[in-house]
Amino acid sequence: MTTFAELKKEGAQLFGEVGAWAFDEWKRLNETYFNGKNIAGAIVWGSTPKGESLGYYSVTENLIYLHKHLMRPVYPTSGIKWGMRHLNKKFASDVLLHEIIHQTIHQTGGWVGETSHNNERFVEEVDRIAKLLGMDVRAKVIKQEMIQGKVTWHAEPGCLTLNELSEFPYSSRPYNYYYE
Ligand SMILES: [Zn+2]
Repeated sequence: MTTFAELKKEGAQLFGEVGAWAFDEWKRLNETYFNGKNIAGAIVWGSTPKGESLGYYSVTENLIYLHKHLMRPVYPTSGIKWGMRHLNKKFASDVLLHEIIHQTIHQTGGWVGETSHNNERFVEEVDRIAKLLGMDVRAKVIKQEMIQGKVTWHAEPGCLTLNELSEFPYSSRPYNYYYE
């Protein structure tokens, strides 16, 4: 097994100070919100496998992908040497936290349900962490309902929608949170 220090060193070699930052931040989040229980894996900057999300967790590799779009500028960046000045740390930290939720669920037995975001384990974690973040939000599994003869996915009133779950916690921050 590769140690945290070895993984961080590799991250720093590949992605410079931003690579090292991701590991320090992972460690801080792991200790603050997960009692330090997650087993570290690689954290890679680049494109996420599906290209749509800002982060991705690979269960088979215990690998967190962070999208290069978390760096500014978002325009073609070839030739640019990324540095901390390009990083929105608060936003990247929230994306990392989201992926650590997937990581912790996988490392503690996995999930059963509709999707990786719509299942008992994920919403429990979201509910727990939202409280720790001081957010006034609630999460529950979204169930199918028959409304006027049509099956629809229906979030309970006052609970996060599927999109909000998929982008927690950044979906639930105040609008100016990342620009303060
Ligand atoms: Zn997710």
